[in-house]
Amino acid sequence: MSLRPTVDFLLHDWLNVGSLQQRERFADHSRETFDAVLDTCERIAREKYAPFNRLVDTQEPHFDGERVILPQATHDAQRAYAESGMLSAAQDYGVGGMQLPYTVEAAANAFFAMASVSIGSGMLTTGNANLLMAHGTELQKQVFALNEFSGRFSGTMCLSEPQAGSSLSDVATRAVPDGEGFEADPLGPRYRLKGNKMWISAGEHELTENIIHLVLAKIPGPDGKLPPGVKGISLFIVPKKLVGTDGQLTGARNDVALAGLNHKCGWRGTTNTLLNFGEGKYPVASPGSTQAEAGAIGYRVGQPGEGLRCMFHMMNEARIGVGMAATMLGMAGYHASLDYARNRPQGRPVGPGGKDPAQPQIRIIEHADVKRMLLAQKSYCEGALALELYCARLVDEQHTGGPQAADEARLLLEVLTPIAKSWPSEWCLEANSLAIQVHGGYGYTRDFPVEQYWRDNRLNMIHEGTHGIQAMDLLARKVLMENGRGLQLLAGRINATIERAIQVPELAVHANALGQALAQVGAATKAAWATGNPTDALANAVPYLQAFGHTVLAWIWLDVALTAQAAPDSPARTGRLAATRFFFHYELPKIGAWLQVVSSRDQTCAALPEEAF
Ligand SMILES: Cc1cc2nc3c(=O)[nH]c(=O)nc-3n(C[C@H](O)[C@H](O)[C@H](O)COP(=O)(O)OP(=O)(O)OC[C@H]3O[C@@H](n4cnc5c(N)ncnc54)[C@H](O)[C@@H]3O)c2cc1C
Repeated sequence: MSLRPTVDFLLHDWLNVGSLQQRERFADHSRETFDAVLDTCERIAREKYAPFNRLVDTQEPHFDGERVILPQATHDAQRAYAESGMLSAAQDYGVGGMQLPYTVEAAANAFFAMASVSIGSGMLTTGNANLLMAHGTELQKQVFALNEFSGRFSGTMCLSEPQAGSSLSDVATRAVPDGEGFEADPLGPRYRLKGNKMWISAGEHELTENIIHLVLAKIPGPDGKLPPGVKGISLFIVPKKLVGTDGQLTGARNDVALAGLNHKCGWRGTTNTLLNFGEGKYPVASPGSTQAEAGAIGYRVGQPGEGLRCMFHMMNEARIGVGMAATMLGMAGYHASLDYARNRPQGRPVGPGGKDPAQPQIRIIEHADVKRMLLAQKSYCEGALALELYCARLVDEQHTGGPQAADEARLLLEVLTPIAKSWPSEWCLEANSLAIQVHGGYGYTRDFPVEQYWRDNRLNMIHEGTHGIQAMDLLARKVLMENGRGLQLLAGRINATIERAIQVPELAVHANALGQALAQVGAATKAAWATGNPTDALANAVPYLQAFGHTVLAWIWLDVALTAQAAPDSPARTGRLAATRFFFHYELPKIGAWLQVVSSRDQTCAALPEEAF
C-alpha cells in the first residue's frame, strides 16, 4: 500500500495546490516539478530510510570517549537527503533554493517521517538556518545558514536546561560580552556562554563537518544578576568548531562539551544530548589573543532580550513538522496493521447458528472489531495529514498571499497550530496503540515494527511544548487574542464547509452535527472564562484542547468528504467517506464529556489537596 495516492488527492484534488503557480514566487513550478520533488523524496525514503529504521533503533548512538558513533546507514541517508536539495527547498533561487511552496515541501518530507522518523531528515537544520535567514546578519547567513542548507553543517535548537523545560523564563545559561571589542566581531556581537543545555537533539555526532547550535541565554545586568522572565532571553550562534568569515573552519574547537547521551524510549536513531557550554573542557582563545580560556564563544542574533521572539518566529513551521511526524508514525502503523490484518487467518464468522469449526479460518480483517480498529487509524491519520497540509497551505498564504489573505492566514495559524501539533501527537499515538492491538501478541514483540512506531511517537506529546502547555496556550491565549478574531475566522471557515455540505444529502447529517459541535465549543470557551479567573478556566485546558481538536478534525473530514464525494466511485472514495462517517459517529460525540468539565469549570483535579493522592 502506498501513501502517494492519498498525498496526491489531498494536494491536488482537495487543496488545489496548483493554484499557487499563479503567484510570482512559484511561477516556474508546475504539476511536473511538484511531482518530481515528491518522486525523488519517495524514492530516497524507500531506498535509504525505510530499510534501516529498525537498525537505527537497535544500534543506538554511543560515545567512544571521543566521538559519537552512528550507523553508516544514517550517514548515507542524511547525505542523500542533503543532495536532494530538500534542506533549502523553500529558499530563494539566489541562495540555491527551489522556491518550493511549503505545502509541497511538507508533503515531500512526510515520506521520510513515515520511512524512518528517527534517522531524521534535517528538520532541525532547516529550522535553524531558516531562523538565521530571517534574523541573522548578511555574514551570519553566508557563513552559517548557507552551509547548513548545503548539508556541510548541521543545526540544533538549544532551549531546554535541566531545570528549565516548560518554563523557559528560568533559563540560567549566562552570556557575557567577550572583551572590549566584542561588538565589532564581523560574525556578530561576541559573547562567552556558560551553562548546561538538556535534551538537545542532534547535539553531537560526526554526520557533518560542524554543528551550529542556536542557544538561548541571558545577558547579566550591571549587578551581575540575570534578568528575570522571558524578556531577558537572547539568542546566540555557538558553533561546535570555530569558523572564519570565509566559512572555513579555523581549526579551533569551541568550548562545547558532550556531558552525556540520553537513552530514550524511542527515536533512537537521533542523538539526544546534555551539553555543557563553557565549562573549560575545550578552552578557546578570542580572536587576536593567544590566551585560551573557558567559555563557549557565541555570536548574538538580533537584539538583546529578543531571543525567544526570534526562536518563535519559526515555531508554526516547527510545530507543523512535529504534527506531521506524529501523523506519519501513525500512518506507518496503520499501513503495517492493514497489511497484517489482510494476511492473518484467525477465527471463524459467527452466523445465526454459531461458529462452524469445520470451516476454514477467516482473515482477521473480516472481523468487525478489527475493521473498527483499522478505520479508527485511517480516520486519525489521514485526517491529521489533511490538517497538516491545510496548515502548510496557510503558511504559503501568509508568505505569498495578498495583505488581507495573508493576515487571515496568520491568525488562523495562531489558533490552529496548537491543534496541528497536539492532535496528531495524541490521536496518531492512539493509532499506533491500535496497530499493536491488531497484531495481537506479535505486535508486542520486536519482530514487527509497530511497537517501535509507538515508542517513536510517544515523544511528540512531550517536546515542542507539552500537551498541557499547548492546551493552555490555546485556551488562555489563542482563542482570546485580537478579541477572539482568530476563533471567529476559524468558525467562518467551518461554517462555509457546513453550508456546502448541507446541500449534499449524504453529508447533511454530518454538517448539522458539526454545527452543533462548533456551538458547543463556543459556549464552553465563554463558560470557561465566565469568572475571568485563569485558575477556573484553565483547570480543564486539556479536555478543551481535545474537544477543540476533534471539532477541527470533524471539519477537515467534512471538507475532504465534499471533494471525495464529487469524485467517481472507487475504493478510495468509499474509504474516505467511511472514514468521515466513522469520525462523526464514533469520535465527535466524545466532545460532550470533555466540554462538560470545561463548561462547569470542574475543580475535581485542580482542588484536590496533595495529601489526598
Ligand atoms: C527526545 C527529546 C528531544 C528533545 N529535543 C530538544 C531540543 O532539541 N532542544 C530543546 O531545547 N529541547 C528539547 N527537548 C526538551 C523538551 O522540549 C522538554 O522536555 C519539554 O519542553 C518539557 O520540559 P521538561 O522535560 O523539563 O518537563 P517539565 O516542564 O518539567 O514538565 C513535566 C510535566 O509538567 C507539566 N507542566 C509543566 N509546567 C506546567 C504548567 N505551568 N502548567 C501545567 N503543567 C505543567 C508538563 O505539561 C509535563 O506534563 C527534547 C526532549 C526530548 C524528550
